[in-house]
Amino acid sequence: MDKDTFWLYDLKVEVVGSEKPMVCNHQVGDYFLVEGENLVFGADQRFPMYSLASILPLLPAKQRDTDPHDWMTTDTEVACPDPHCGGRFRITRTGRRIFSHAETTGLPDQRGVPYWAKEPSTDSNGGEA
Ligand SMILES: [Zn+2]
Repeated sequence: MDKDTFWLYDLKVEVVGSEKPMVCNHQVGDYFLVEGENLVFGADQRFPMYSLASILPLLPAKQRDTDPHDWMTTDTEVACPDPHCGGRFRITRTGRRIFSHAETTGLPDQRGVPYWAKEPSTDSNGGEA
């Protein structure tokens, strides 16, 4: 592997139910994807900003390899920040994508052509984590 490259997992964040009813506008099965720095929503897909705000800090860690004993590896569900809401959000690693440091860094003396100006490559085996 080129020493300039690194892998990030693609993620799926999906609304799952719990024993409590949901009070926010999440519906079981609603989801968005995380591909590199991008959040990818389907057509007409909505996601409440309060729950999104609680999920966002976890996503960069979930994108990276973590120790098998680390809770960040094993714990996949996040609760809605509204204590009255039963919304839960399952974060799943769905594949891997390779990036180049030069294509992603903001350091002016190390910056190449941005990755988003090219087609990203994905793991040949689908990258199931
Ligand atoms: Zn909620």
